[in-house]
Amino acid sequence: MGTPQLTKNQSLVMGALAHSEGPMSAYTILDKLRDQGFRAPLQVYRALDKLLEYGLVHRLESLNAFVACTCPHEHEHDRGVTAFTICEGCGQVTEFHDAAIEERLSALVRAQSFKTEKTTIEIRGHCKSCAA
Ligand SMILES: [Zn+2]
Ligand SMILES: [Zn+2]
Repeated sequence: MGTPQLTKNQSLVMGALAHSEGPMSAYTILDKLRDQGFRAPLQVYRALDKLLEYGLVHRLESLNAFVACTCPHEHEHDRGVTAFTICEGCGQVTEFHDAAIEERLSALVRAQSFKTEKTTIEIRGHCKSCAA
């Protein structure tokens, strides 16, 4: 999979997320992009749908928010498990991938003949500096 060609709106949404300190809701993204001509949540959602599909952005279900993908190898998403630690103190989100988790989960799921679309693990807690 090469780098997809992004539309103007997709690039703007991607840029907003990539420069953000933490995850952003669709409405926060909309507020940031009003000066760039965004007017309606639908414009943000349409761009996000494509960015999610391309694997450039992840959705954090527990926060109802979005983050730019930070993993260095796009093939990591082919294995299908994306894990995050989410700090409830400062909001820091860290993405990681682990082959052992992936293998164990896919074995469990295969045993049920379940067809997985995607797996997202969200670990809530406190980061090193907030826990200190
Ligand atoms: Zn990622
Ligand atoms: Zn923290």
